Amino acid sequence: MNADPTAAIALQVDDVSKRFGDTVAVDHVSFELSAHELLALVGPSGCGKSTLLRMLAGLHGTESGSITLGGTVVDDGHRALPPERRRVGLVFQEHALFPHLSVADNVGFGVRDGTTRERVAEMLNVVGLAQYGERYPHELSGGERQRVALARALAPRPALMLLDEPFASLDPNLRARVRDDVVRILRSSGTPAVFVTHDQNEALAVGDRVAVMRSGRVVQIGPPEDVFHAPASRFVAAFMGEADFVHRSEAGRLADERWPTDDGALVMVRPDDVTFTADAAGNARVTGAEFRGSVWNYALELESGATVHAIRSHLEHVALGTTVTAVIRPGHRPVAVADDVAV
Ligand code: ADP
Repeated sequence: MNADPTAAIALQVDDVSKRFGDTVAVDHVSFELSAHELLALVGPSGCGKSTLLRMLAGLHGTESGSITLGGTVVDDGHRALPPERRRVGLVFQEHALFPHLSVADNVGFGVRDGTTRERVAEMLNVVGLAQYGERYPHELSGGERQRVALARALAPRPALMLLDEPFASLDPNLRARVRDDVVRILRSSGTPAVFVTHDQNEALAVGDRVAVMRSGRVVQIGPPEDVFHAPASRFVAAFMGEADFVHRSEAGRLADERWPTDDGALVMVRPDDVTFTADAAGNARVTGAEFRGSVWNYALELESGATVHAIRSHLEHVALGTTVTAVIRPGHRPVAVADDVAV
């Protein structure tokens, strides 16, 4: 058993902030990362994700607060260790390989001990490019280059990996595959990682936990299921997936359960929460139908005039204008959300 209770904490971020002129890019952010954990940092463009990641890397200093990596304070708001002394591995969107160095020399670049050859071979093996050591970056596909960038970042055995939109430059088919590869490699090497993305599906798929940022702040952090199903606010609910917001009293009428009525609270209803059947005496009307290949996404106008959406199999097409009875599926009890969107 490990006697040091802090040993399981790979990274501790304590109340860090960063401004650029009048812009508050990162605003009093705190979180911890345990050993082996993958944290997805997600939020709309400009919310401060990259700035926060750069602060962790040591590319920006913090103005206040502190960053502790593996038990060592690397930035206390006054003094900051430079990136090369933090034992962090960096992977960016643009796989910045040295074009004039072979794949093997790229991967070995940061390894400064007697084991370079072995370590390079091991890392190329891990990323599935064992035969590619003699090639040059221009002789690789985008996905292969990104795997080389990952091997290069992992080769010096970093205590923490920092990845900033690492798959954004890849086309969608390749993207999912390389992403799965990268997650598998990070997990098998046991390296904790903070991973920036603006793509909520990617964040849900990759993160052990997801931190949602808005205007420089982390507005919610938790397991993907919690962030998706129990969002702390309307902003998180809408950012993390499709959602409609209706008054609790109205949602109550669509469900079997009795909920407090007219308390004014808004609840989130996702398209997979709702099902419906054609019923001339029903409580809603089909006002929209969007074909998505495997499913239809129907818009249902309720008696109050509010609209909810419902996902149905592509086999079950329903004509516009049909009157239906809409029901919230059992087990999908809508959660009340703080209405912060118009702030
Ligand atoms: P994200 O990665 O979420 O898109 P960023 O961290 O890049 O967001 O940016 C957060 C905010 O800080 C934005 O308003 C951006 O314009 C600003 N910002 C980022 N970097 C700089 C910089 N070097 N100089 C001035 N403003 C910056």
